[in-house]
Amino acid sequence: MTVSQDRALSRINVMRPWLGTEEAEAVAEVIASGWVAQGPRVARFEEAFAGTQQAAHAVAVSNCTTALHLALKVAGIGPRDDVVVPSLSFIATANAVTYVGARPVFADVEPDTGNVSVRTIAAALTPATRAVIVVDQGGMPVDLVPIRALCDGLGITVVEDAACAAGSTYRGRPVGAGAELAAWSFHPRKILTTGEGGMLTTHNAGWADRARKLREHAMSVSAKDRHSTVLAPPEEYGEIGFNYRMTDMQAAVGLVQLGRLEEAVARRRAIVATYREALSGVAGLRFSQDPPYGTSNFQSFWFEVLPGFAVGREELLERLANDGISARRGIMAAHRQPAYAGLNTGRADLSVTERLTDHTVILPVYHQLTPDEQSRVIDSILKAAGSSHD
Ligand SMILES: *Cc1c(COP(=O)(O)O)cnc(C)c1O
Repeated sequence: MTVSQDRALSRINVMRPWLGTEEAEAVAEVIASGWVAQGPRVARFEEAFAGTQQAAHAVAVSNCTTALHLALKVAGIGPRDDVVVPSLSFIATANAVTYVGARPVFADVEPDTGNVSVRTIAAALTPATRAVIVVDQGGMPVDLVPIRALCDGLGITVVEDAACAAGSTYRGRPVGAGAELAAWSFHPRKILTTGEGGMLTTHNAGWADRARKLREHAMSVSAKDRHSTVLAPPEEYGEIGFNYRMTDMQAAVGLVQLGRLEEAVARRRAIVATYREALSGVAGLRFSQDPPYGTSNFQSFWFEVLPGFAVGREELLERLANDGISARRGIMAAHRQPAYAGLNTGRADLSVTERLTDHTVILPVYHQLTPDEQSRVIDSILKAAGSSHD
């Protein structure tokens, strides 16, 4: 096989987790310790994560979807309540609302960021709205301060779905630092991974304490305390809880990953800068960029294919795929999915959501992306644009 054939066959994914021997050694240590379920490493990971994110409390859970569920539970959201959420988000954002028996009401997003704003939230509010979930979509920080100013005055709890946003900043601080409740994901599609995993952060000690109990069946004594005494005290179950625990194996990986977060963000931002430089002269493409009030970790780097581009979004994706490049359609729109399409999810205009979901492309960005691989992606787009130099 020639080098060029080899090159043509190698596939470039949109994302690859950045894991190495340090993570493997950390897991091996946990296994050797004999304590693999939620225990001392989960506690250490929570403390470290709270420190990095400037949160008073961090509660580790099984994933971000369960973190969102617990956020709404501890905020007292339930049946007959409305929760405003962006439709332009992974479906878990809306699903968490239905888990507590509340109704998701969809809000539109701003074209520049793909995020909800005080304007789009105000347009979606209903008399029954008791919470709003804002999303830092793809790592792009949401403009939280004006949204809090609107919602705090109305007694509406704002939950930040920061699933993608570890390492992003807002007004000079880590995203989520100014949130009442923030939910994080450590799925391999995200910048920091534990295989599966999530975190709930909050400044409210009462909410953190209740979330800690709810994640392990609302048991009065934690499993860790129960197992570390020879004669365990009798436990009590004050309400109906869940099993949303993280394992110590995951937390050990998370601790290593957290130590690399800054480097991971810097690398992604450098890759994005290279894309922007190489493609900025191409007519008909509009790239996502840092908003004036913060910085993105570029967990997802997207561009919009405008009518002025040589081919449409679907054809561009096909051409990239033919070159072995697995780019992706932009963020989904939950209101169009069969799970929600038939339901009453409010009456806000969702035209920007539909425009972005139909016309955006997410480009490959991952830590190990080589200059050679990135050139292949750039060349493929230039070729599609009809402005290739080959
Ligand atoms: C990935 C993601 C989730 C779900 O995270 P899990 O850890 O897989 O449950 C929720 N919201 C957004 C915005 C996401 O991108």
